[in-house]
Amino acid sequence: MRRAVRRTTCERAVRAVCGTTSASTAATAATAATATRESHRHHHHNHEQWSRDRTVASAATSSASAWRRANRGYASATASYEIIDHEYDALVVGAGGAGLRAAIGLGEHGFKTACVTKLFPTRSHTVAAQGGINAALGNMTEDDWRWHAYDTVKGADWLGDQDAIQYMCREAPKAVIELEKYGMPFSRTDEGKIYQRAFGGQSLDYGKGGQAYRCAAAADRTGHAMLHTLYGAALKHDVQFFVEYFALDLIMDKGECVGIMALCLEDGTIHRFRSHQTILATGGYGRAYFSATSAHTCTGDGNAMVARAGLPLQDQEFVQFHPTGIYGAGCLITEGSRGEGGILRNSEGERFMERYAPSAKDLASRDVVSRSMTLEIREGRGVGKDKDHIYLHLNHLPPELLAERLPGISETAAIFAGVDVTKEPIPVIPTVHYNMGGIPTNYKGEVVAPKNGDPDAIVPGLLAAGEAACASVHGANRLGANSLLDIVVFGRACANTVAGKLKQGAPHRKIADDAGSNAIERLEKIRNSTGTAPTAMLRKTMQKVMQEDAAVFRTQETLANGCTRIDDVAAQLDNLKLTDRSLVWNTDLVEALELHNLMPNAQTTMHSAERRKESRGAHAREDFPDRLDDAWMKHTLAYVENGKVKIDYRPVHDYTLDAEMDVIPPKARVY
Ligand SMILES: Cc1cc2nc3c(=O)[nH]c(=O)nc-3n(C[C@H](O)[C@H](O)[C@H](O)COP(=O)(O)OP(=O)(O)OC[C@H]3O[C@@H](n4cnc5c(N)ncnc54)[C@H](O)[C@@H]3O)c2cc1C
Repeated sequence: MRRAVRRTTCERAVRAVCGTTSASTAATAATAATATRESHRHHHHNHEQWSRDRTVASAATSSASAWRRANRGYASATASYEIIDHEYDALVVGAGGAGLRAAIGLGEHGFKTACVTKLFPTRSHTVAAQGGINAALGNMTEDDWRWHAYDTVKGADWLGDQDAIQYMCREAPKAVIELEKYGMPFSRTDEGKIYQRAFGGQSLDYGKGGQAYRCAAAADRTGHAMLHTLYGAALKHDVQFFVEYFALDLIMDKGECVGIMALCLEDGTIHRFRSHQTILATGGYGRAYFSATSAHTCTGDGNAMVARAGLPLQDQEFVQFHPTGIYGAGCLITEGSRGEGGILRNSEGERFMERYAPSAKDLASRDVVSRSMTLEIREGRGVGKDKDHIYLHLNHLPPELLAERLPGISETAAIFAGVDVTKEPIPVIPTVHYNMGGIPTNYKGEVVAPKNGDPDAIVPGLLAAGEAACASVHGANRLGANSLLDIVVFGRACANTVAGKLKQGAPHRKIADDAGSNAIERLEKIRNSTGTAPTAMLRKTMQKVMQEDAAVFRTQETLANGCTRIDDVAAQLDNLKLTDRSLVWNTDLVEALELHNLMPNAQTTMHSAERRKESRGAHAREDFPDRLDDAWMKHTLAYVENGKVKIDYRPVHDYTLDAEMDVIPPKARVY
């Protein structure tokens, strides 16, 4: 109860700040605030911290009113926003695996840390991860992190940065043991070791020793186990969670990130977070496509915030199609199902992967399997009435094994395909699954953007980790089970980097009184959209364009056409139609904000793909079927200026961190 009172006091202080709140808005906000208190008790649990925030809110009085006087925007007829200021040492945006691991690290280092998340942490998309996390633990066979690094460089089709790959694979066993110590309930071998299964693209002895068993798993619900474990661990530290707060934009000051603006979804208050170091861990943008295995909340918000700040997005053309999304529903059937012995068959009953990848067969890299399936369908050997999908057979496997190792997907197949996996095959089709591209970072998690001839120049105050980031460990194609690894390794790396450069409690420098006002103006404009295109309609148009023109196979014609079409769709954002103008739990508004965020992701994907005239990893051009290292072994950088995409490039890091790993020179990628 004491905490609830504290919040009320704070609200009063802030309402005094913004004095012009209209009666109706204030009444709605007050009702919402009452409902809010109970849920906020869990998040604002630190008395001292909360009091400090309140002080900051009061201190902001003069700046906020000056702000309003200076430009009438925030107390206009339509807008009456409360602005609450916060100061933190460090800030994490996102509470999936990457965000939580970063927040744990910052908490461990004693920083006053906030974690802002639009979803309750354990609803983050990481919860859906099934198959597992790679690490050369050597629990099933002898293993070596260098073999894992070799597979990752090869899987990435030589577009990955080898220093970052070395870092990730070397850290992997420690990262998994750390998760075990946090209490993650891994599946076990008979001797009690962490169970490790076969996964795609994983080999022993630099590709010469056959299939590796490197993927540590908690049945087929590894992400669920990981996310709950990490949230528990984060709560042990003094991390302050701002749950169901939607980050709107970065606050940039003279090229440095000094915080973010966020909207509290429960009561419509605007929160201005100051932080010395901001870590973006906002996940991928699978929902730019029509058929995706990712959650509807995967809308690339952090990427879009970066693009709006005038910074580049890297390698956006590389979008992974997972071979086995359930036909029609798009839900994932983990690669672990093939790791446990599942087989793909065409309409002739043939195990066709033997033709395309004689050694690895069904466990070849994802891009290879997806393309092979697409070719089978094109050549008339698809299954079903329309011969437009493929069968995944698990029905030859022992029912006990299915029950023990693959219970989740057995249930998913029953619900979404009406299939009993012990008796029938599952209808599957390649489905958008992962974004290799994103916010460019170095292996320490620092965001980079070329400046004054330095391709690796660091953007001060800004870091990124997880699927939002491009470190780049996945290059042109991510190997299965390397993403759960990426999120914990680079989430932790971000926290360590912050610890190396920041003192606890360092004072914040003064920034412009109206810093962040552009985010409110944008919000205000979107909230009052009076065009003719409903969000759902425009989103579907965007998704269809991406699905049709930036698909598994690409040509100059489809991509050039796609560039024109996606830019036209983006221009339609000005014609959006919103019907709900309230600020309390306005899902119409949130979906519109998310569509605005998806759009630069979609545009940069299409334009980057059009420009890259070669085939590499997930980017398969029918008109340029070969990988062309001389011209194209480089990262694409895409900037969005006034709705138009500009392309630049930066070199791939073809060097390692130290002598513990040799550079792996490019060669043909055969499985
Ligand atoms: C079905 C499926 C299964 C998978 N299985 C595996 C697997 O077995 N192994 C593997 O390695 N990888 C797997 N992957 C990939 C992997 O799960 C993801 O890449 C990874 O979990 C992403 O984690 P993340 O922390 O970067 O982002 P997420 O878990 O997506 O978290 C993003 C966070 O950002 C927050 N956020 C986003 N936008 C905003 C905003 N505007 N304001 C505030 N907060 C915001 C969200 O609230 C959320 O907390 C799978 C992916 C899918 C789709």
